[in-house]
Amino acid sequence: MPELPEVEVVRRGLEDHVVGRRITGVEFFGSRVVRRHLPGAPDLAARLVGRRVDAARRRGKYLWLVLSGDDGPGSALLMHLGMSGQLLVEAPDAPDEKHLHARFGFDDDGPELRFVDQRTFGGMAFSELTPGGIPETVSHIAPDPLEEDWDEELVVARMKARDSAVKRALLDQSLVSGIGNIYADEALWRASVHGERLASSLTRPALRRILGHARAVMVEALGEGGTSFDALYVNVNGASGYFDRSLNAYGQEGRPCRRCGTPIRREAFMNRSSYSCPRCQPRPRVRRD
Ligand SMILES: [Zn+2]
Repeated sequence: MPELPEVEVVRRGLEDHVVGRRITGVEFFGSRVVRRHLPGAPDLAARLVGRRVDAARRRGKYLWLVLSGDDGPGSALLMHLGMSGQLLVEAPDAPDEKHLHARFGFDDDGPELRFVDQRTFGGMAFSELTPGGIPETVSHIAPDPLEEDWDEELVVARMKARDSAVKRALLDQSLVSGIGNIYADEALWRASVHGERLASSLTRPALRRILGHARAVMVEALGEGGTSFDALYVNVNGASGYFDRSLNAYGQEGRPCRRCGTPIRREAFMNRSSYSCPRCQPRPRVRRD
């Protein structure tokens, strides 16, 4: 599944290859890709044709293309890659992909933008923007640690008020977006904090440290993801080489902790797994999730 750094790589690809171009043709294949656009595929296509793409933005794992020609805050094509979505920039005569769901042509007759998704958990919809420039349909989602609007002190204060496990707070998209299971485990390992500790029981410096590590891990992954970026392939299938080489906790069950040598353990958490070092990240006495 694409994580936030991979989605940011895709956003940069869109910025390089799509921004500034005017959409002249839109085709959807099947209705699943536009299921969140309730008026349906023809309505969405009609709203896009003739519009220029003015910007490519992102919050958490949501991407959107800001469209030209609006008074007021404007509107956007909102996209989510889901589990396996890919955005490809390809020559118009390139053969169709097996799981092609949408195709966008531009007035310069240059490369098309294609949305390919094997599992179709991803999709797209039209959305008005708030005065802050965020699509209305995702405006309840908090800023992510890579955004300019990211306010670490605000998030620390809100986490400090939470009587829930700190890992649950990290995964709560209304507090901070874009931190998935992998980044939460890595940040907690770096901070030497067990994810079942109560957020409210941690000191502000400890919460600051955890959030700082979450941001740092993402920035590092972004650096690595950027290196695999190909000019004609707006990458993304979640297989960033970063995950093989650089993870300290996530998926490392039984391997020695890189800090103390103790084997990393796996525990059930919120119907998923948590990975941590038993020695560096001692469990609280009471289990919480
Ligand atoms: Zn350790």
